[in-house]
Parts: sequence; structure tokens; C-alpha cells
Amino acid sequence: MFVDSHCHLSFPELQGNLPRILADMRAARVAAALCICTTLEEFSTVQALAAGHDNLWASVGVHPDTEGLAEPSVEELCSLAAQPKVIAIGETGLDYFRLNGRSVADMEWQRERFRVHIRAARRLGLPLVIHTRSASEDTIALLKDEGAGTEGSGIGGVFHCFTETMEVARAALDLGFHISFSGIVSFRNAADLREVARFVPLERSLIETDSPYLAPVPYRGKTNSPAYVPHVATVLAAEKGLTAEEIGQATTANFERLFGVKVPALAEGGVS
Ligand SMILES: [Zn+2]
Ligand SMILES: [Zn+2]
Repeated sequence: MFVDSHCHLSFPELQGNLPRILADMRAARVAAALCICTTLEEFSTVQALAAGHDNLWASVGVHPDTEGLAEPSVEELCSLAAQPKVIAIGETGLDYFRLNGRSVADMEWQRERFRVHIRAARRLGLPLVIHTRSASEDTIALLKDEGAGTEGSGIGGVFHCFTETMEVARAALDLGFHISFSGIVSFRNAADLREVARFVPLERSLIETDSPYLAPVPYRGKTNSPAYVPHVATVLAAEKGLTAEEIGQATTANFERLFGVKVPALAEGGVS
């Protein structure tokens, strides 16, 4: 069985189709998914999805690309994270891909927001779900500055939808983080990323869809959904000389260990 460690079921493309999506997950032996929060405004929707389903969990956080909406404090993140089924802080991190005419120096607000998330996660002992794009050096530096990688720092989590270099993967692993691969690893032009996937130890690897975006081959360009996460496992399996089922078992165990949850068993023959 498989777990989708990062999806956006609260986004309209998916939320409007929830019964179908849950049935597709069962049919594809995807036992569970983590619903990721990107704004404080959507948190109650994300949390309600998780609270209403045994096999869904939620995170709380404000995406680095979110602008013009509510800004979180450490206290607010901690109080929202106390709600049932909230198992992670994020997604958070740094994204310098779309600066919209600003310089990296102008993005101090993003770095400050990232620090707020790290401090909340540390206080709660919850894993961070980290988004980093065109900003890996600052992402690693800021984590270290907040104490990640030091004995008993209590800071850990996952670099999600990993698209960075081997060097960044090594730095993230050195800080104790997991690395999650999305459908991008299946794209034809992603040979370098497949090399990273081969390098990352299986016990530190996760798989995800980041749906509704980034559908894996053979669904590239279509609306993605958690049911497609086995296609990511198939690519990792080819890289590591294992079966997709073995990748599924290992990444499910990693998910349970990292987030401190038990994934419910799939009903046998439960294709409905
Ligand atoms: Zn992201
Ligand atoms: Zn995401």
C-alpha cells in the first residue's frame, strides 16, 4: 500500500470530487494522505477534511507564496495545531522563483514567516513540511540558524516535492530531514532528480503527489490526485532495484514514524 505525503484536497479541483477521489485512492491501494494547508483562511477546510476521514491528516501553515492574507504568529500556529488530526507544520519555507520585480533582500518577510513556522514546530515537536524553490541555500542556512541539526534541536520534517541538487539533498539529510519525491521524478527531463532519488536512503524517502498539480507520467498535464502516487513509487522502484510495492511499504513506514501516526489498513478487496 501507499501513502500520499502531500496533497491539496482542499483546492476546488479536488474538494468538489471528494467521494470519487477517496474511491480512486482505495482502488489504487493508496491508504492515506496528508492534506496540506497553505493559508490560515483555508485551515478550517483542511482540518475538517482530516477530522472527517480516518485516512486523512492535516497540516497547518502559510505557504511562502501566500501574500495579502493573514500572517501567522507562533502562538496562533500552536493553537491551531492542537486541533484533532493536525500532524505537521507547513507548508512553509522559501520561494524566490517569482520575485515579481523584487530582490532576494526584499523577501525578509518570507524568511521571518519561515522562522515563525520553525519555532512553532519546535515548540510542539511536530515535523515541518518544507517548500523550497530557487532558495535552497537560504532554506538550509535559516534552518541551521534556528538550531536544526544540533543535538536534541527537535527540528525535523520533510523537504517536499524535491527538485534540488544532490548537494542540497545531502545538506537536508545531514539536518535529519526526510526527502519527498513527487511526479516530477517521472518526467523525461528529470534524469538528475532520478539520480538524487537513487542517492537518498530508502528509510529517509517519502512519496507525494502535490495534487492537483504535477501529475506523474502517464497523466502529465492532467489534474493530479492522491490515487496517482503509486506512479511515483514505480519510478523510485526502478531507480533502487526494488518493486513499487516495496517502495510503498517502506515509505508508508517512514510516514508513520516521521508523523507519529498509524495508517489504517486497506480493506481487503475493498474496491468499490
Ligand atoms: Zn510546495
Ligand atoms: Zn503543496
